[in-house]
Amino acid sequence: MKICDMHCDTISVLLNDENEGKNGSLRENDHHLDLRKMQKGDYLLQNFAMFTPLVVDDPMYYCQKLIDKYYREIEANEDLIRPVYSYSDIEKNINEGLMSAMLTLEEGAVVHDDLAILRLYHRLGVRMITLTWNYPNGIGYPNFDNSSDQDRYNKIRQINTKDGLTPFGIEYIKEMERLGIIIDVSHLGDAGFYDVVKYSTKPFVASHSNARSICSVARNMTDDMIREVAKKGGVIGLNYCKDFVDDDGDGNIEGLIRHVDHIIKVGGEDVIGLGSDFDGIGDRSDLKNGSEMQDLVKALKDHGYSDKTIAKITHENVLRVYKEVLR
Ligand SMILES: [Zn+2]
Repeated sequence: MKICDMHCDTISVLLNDENEGKNGSLRENDHHLDLRKMQKGDYLLQNFAMFTPLVVDDPMYYCQKLIDKYYREIEANEDLIRPVYSYSDIEKNINEGLMSAMLTLEEGAVVHDDLAILRLYHRLGVRMITLTWNYPNGIGYPNFDNSSDQDRYNKIRQINTKDGLTPFGIEYIKEMERLGIIIDVSHLGDAGFYDVVKYSTKPFVASHSNARSICSVARNMTDDMIREVAKKGGVIGLNYCKDFVDDDGDGNIEGLIRHVDHIIKVGGEDVIGLGSDFDGIGDRSDLKNGSEMQDLVKALKDHGYSDKTIAKITHENVLRVYKEVLR
């Protein structure tokens, strides 16, 4: 079964490796994701997030360095994977037996609160933006706020229901939709989420979040939020991070399937996709890396899901959103 995954942090890890004089190759490495593992896992498309923590000296410079690394790796491996900017690019790669790579930003503030810079990122190939990471920015406010002094246990359970999108944030998502960039609400606070529901006109995604009813952390979605994403025709990408799978378990495949069951029960089978968070999360007891994705497919089958539903979960729902929003 083909795999479309909406979120990984592999490029950050590879750029770090390169800066430390290590391998740093997307083709083959010791991290969660490389092209060999993706071939083994039967990947059709992977989103590569340019994850930029706002505590670095110059976030825009940092992000540009990541984008350069992304394109250097994609160009060096064009026999296996090609960048996509439109839905027809994805179809072309499928027809040529190639995997697809989509450039995404994780931290909308790298545009310096200026829509001109947002438009330039679009010209650089960015097709999805996670509006916030774990810091408040000019667009809005996260739930899990790294700038608060609470310990991680409390931070991860803090829900921001009062601070929504800023006036600039509202302009920002409107310009994203006009350009054909997919809005990603993972990390965004609950009030910001409802502003996206209010001001967006196209399907949007939570690229790497689970269900809060199953694991009560702020990074996951309430039942009402799941229903709102579904109403918009959007999709929620299953995140494999242990902290977001179980309140106390080890985040194994059974835990992931509890989220699949719940999200489908609440929002229907058109709202669920994949957003591994590979190379942004710790090592796991199972699903160690991208090469093992068919283990998840097998587990879904053993659990009783039909091939038709599994295809929606693993790639069709995500592709439907891309077809609708990308231009
Ligand atoms: Zn993230």
